[in-house]
Amino acid sequence: MTPHTLETLTFDNSYARLPEVFYAKVNPTPFATAPFLISANQAAMELLDLDPREAARPEFAGVFGGSLLVPGMEPLAMLYSGHQFGVYVPQLGDGRAILLGEVKNERGERWDLHLKGAGLTPFSRDGDGRSVLRSAIREYLCCEAMHGLGIPTTRALCLVGSDDKVYREQVETGATIVRMAPSHVRFGTFEIFYYRKQHEHLAVLADYVIDQHFPHLRDGSEKYVDFFAEVVERTARLVAQWQAVGWAHGVLNTDNMSILGVTLDYGPYGFMDDYDPGFICNHSDHNGRYAFNQQPYIGLWNLSCLAQTLLPLAPKEELKAALDSYQANVDRHYRELMQAKLGLVEQQAGDEELLQDLKSLMVGSRVDYTIFWRELGTFLSDAGAKNERLREHFLNPERFDVWAGQYRERLQVEQSRDEERRQRMDRVNPKYVLRNYLAQGAIEKAQQKDYAEIDRLLTLLQNPFSEQASMDSYAAAPPNWGKHLSVSCSS
Ligand code: AMP
Ligand code: MG
Repeated sequence: MTPHTLETLTFDNSYARLPEVFYAKVNPTPFATAPFLISANQAAMELLDLDPREAARPEFAGVFGGSLLVPGMEPLAMLYSGHQFGVYVPQLGDGRAILLGEVKNERGERWDLHLKGAGLTPFSRDGDGRSVLRSAIREYLCCEAMHGLGIPTTRALCLVGSDDKVYREQVETGATIVRMAPSHVRFGTFEIFYYRKQHEHLAVLADYVIDQHFPHLRDGSEKYVDFFAEVVERTARLVAQWQAVGWAHGVLNTDNMSILGVTLDYGPYGFMDDYDPGFICNHSDHNGRYAFNQQPYIGLWNLSCLAQTLLPLAPKEELKAALDSYQANVDRHYRELMQAKLGLVEQQAGDEELLQDLKSLMVGSRVDYTIFWRELGTFLSDAGAKNERLREHFLNPERFDVWAGQYRERLQVEQSRDEERRQRMDRVNPKYVLRNYLAQGAIEKAQQKDYAEIDRLLTLLQNPFSEQASMDSYAAAPPNWGKHLSVSCSS
């Protein structure tokens, strides 16, 4: 591979070749003060075949801070609408993000360079087109944390800061992040043309998405149904992965649902600390519409919105059949993921009860979700073993002992060996997740212009399953101040 400079990146802007009804051409608005690089993610630079040394050039912060363009970029804001908290909003669109262009790497992969916080667009409505540093840091770190966990997600290329003031509840500073995905098309991109009754545009969009991103379906006689069925399948898998790792998105509006089934738009998300199925991470979500345990249902709700937009293109019964497969899909993926978290190789009758009983115990004792699963890998299965450390998580350790007895028996059924099982479990039960208090620590330092913590977390979270020397404190449950941090949409 020949490493590229910014100027020699290969662009192939397929979205910009669509008719202009799908977007508005608009350039980023430069900050008034010079943008500066806060963090560059080497792993994402590699995906672009970009020479790692490029990050050190002032032009890098210039381009990804919105004040420079390089040849081949054709900046545009994508148009979409969506259901926000269950209510249809006829027009949204990239109000503070700009698709700079699509880089094609030497493996033939295409990566959208999506610059968030880049200034006003025709779709900014009442907003200022900016992102504040704190929210840019949260998105930057979580993209890579999720990727490290093996969960499909937009990737994060870099984080750029500025001294420009941005007004929220307080005065803050502006920042940009560059997100990457093969596409930023959302469920809402389909919705806008359906509700505007522009079905010819809808067909162009569907054909484009299938052609670019589902090419194996291109020549099928039922391609729109097949496409929808695959979105159902991908979404089901994604949601099951969120549930298994204990993560809530916080704003699962249809405009934040990726047509590729990747996690998109990180705002007031949260990894659970104590296990709490009703966990609401978004402070503005008063009714808990997007509570942790609602996510599987919300996935279905959102997919049904997408199905509706395809009615002009595909038979209703077949779309309905694909939709009907969703819940079983989520359940199957979730069962498999949780089976692996329990260290079980085979599937047996009674496993679901075993899991359910454990979860009930965990709720009752408000057990730390991540720490407990990781430690369960240390479970000793011989009859005399007390498993003291695990017992200590529970208010009523005797009840845990009863469960442990059942678990022990279950392990014996498949002749599970402790050490081998621990190694397997360590590959699926992360040691490190991006807890709110860890992000908050990095944010508070960054607000004092100390950015080292961001890179430290980035490196840590890119390898969440490996024990990392001297990083043990990052696996700890939150201190009191970090337990109930308030995170909302206003970012
Ligand atoms: P989000 O909650 O971030 O998914 O955003 C929902 C909609 O509001 C999208 O159309 C965004 O582009 C838009 N939006 C959010 N924040 C801003 C902002 N500061 N300026 C302009 N538009 C915004
Ligand atoms: Mg959004």
